[in-house]
Amino acid sequence: MHTAAEESVQACPDCGTEIRVHGRFSAWCAACDWNVDPAPPEERPGRLARAQRAQARRYGERLLAELTAGGTLRPRRDASSVLAYALALAVHAVTVAVTGAGIGFLIRGWGGFGMVPGALFLTLAWSLRPRLTRLPTDVPVLRRADAPELFTLVDQVAVVVGTRGVDAIAVDSSINASVVTYGIGDRRLLTLGLPLWEILTPQQRIALLGHELGHYSNGDTRHRRVVATAYRSLFTWEYFFHPYPDVTLLTVTINVFYALPRWILLGLLLLLDRLTLRGAQRSEYLADRLAARAGSTEAAVELFDRLLVSRSAEVTLMREANASSVRGPRTRGDDDRADGLWERLAADLRSVPDHERERQRRASIRRGHSVDSTHPPTWLRQTALRIGPPVPPAVVSDAGRELRIGAELTTVRRTVARRILRDGYGD
Ligand SMILES: [Zn+2]
Ligand SMILES: [Zn+2]
Repeated sequence: MHTAAEESVQACPDCGTEIRVHGRFSAWCAACDWNVDPAPPEERPGRLARAQRAQARRYGERLLAELTAGGTLRPRRDASSVLAYALALAVHAVTVAVTGAGIGFLIRGWGGFGMVPGALFLTLAWSLRPRLTRLPTDVPVLRRADAPELFTLVDQVAVVVGTRGVDAIAVDSSINASVVTYGIGDRRLLTLGLPLWEILTPQQRIALLGHELGHYSNGDTRHRRVVATAYRSLFTWEYFFHPYPDVTLLTVTINVFYALPRWILLGLLLLLDRLTLRGAQRSEYLADRLAARAGSTEAAVELFDRLLVSRSAEVTLMREANASSVRGPRTRGDDDRADGLWERLAADLRSVPDHERERQRRASIRRGHSVDSTHPPTWLRQTALRIGPPVPPAVVSDAGRELRIGAELTTVRRTVARRILRDGYGD
């Protein structure tokens, strides 16, 4: 707890307003935003990341304006998503054609030299094939039998947002969550970042699950898979047409012939990127609406608030990891420290005063905080949720269930905590 002794008062150097200074946090002015984002420039995002964020922000703002103007988002795809999908299918069609040509040459030239082009075409097709996503092997993966109560909660949220639950839950150390389909067919993987999960209330967790599962019910994961595999095929093509670096008559001639297909490929990659980003932003707003339906508008708004101040959690975990690494080889003490890590993280965040929370919120908004480059800025998503009447929760949790889920996560909590202390964290 913060006592008055830790607090002092000074005048803002810019506007003269009286500002309160808390011992372990930087001083800033709520009236004129002086020193609201004191981090050194090297901690700020690089140029490419900034450009991506600027674009994400433009799309995000345009969509928000449409919403504010009374427009509705329907879970059908917009024109750019449909174009991205068509482009992706065309790329896959080329791969199929290459395979067909390979088989054709092979049959016609069977037993002779005619087989050589067949083999070449098939090798090319193999390198271009859409690759399956697999379950991660470097983080713990839970199956239904490992965490029945957690899977039941996921199932309930899934029903509310109009889909079915997941087949596996991976737990990693990110301040994020995500969904993908993996393997053959429609097998589903939910990835939960434990540092995020641990700092959320039960109701905020339900909102988070609502958002993630909403991507399944809106068909985003299927869409993403088709587009992402095509993206990869295009990248492979681009690799084949890479210019040769050495300068001989032969390589220069080849490079001249490579230039056109290469430019076309780069153009296609860029186009796919743009089309995808626009559609992705739309699907995030839609998933946010399902987050509110599952956990309530209030919980979804609070969830974004947690994300806006998630830097605190990052700092705490980095400090914990550093304290662990300076003491050298692993000791029994490290394991004890790992066991209390999540409780310390939660306590640390509770101890952050409102004053500092507000500063972080403003700094995050200035930096255009978003969970990644495809998401609209977090504060725009929060604003979007506040448009329209708030909705009550469709799923609620109770203390008994929370305890059972906590117990199911005991082992992974320990595993992830030990890994953070052993391998370090962040940046
Ligand atoms: Zn000021
Ligand atoms: Zn999302």
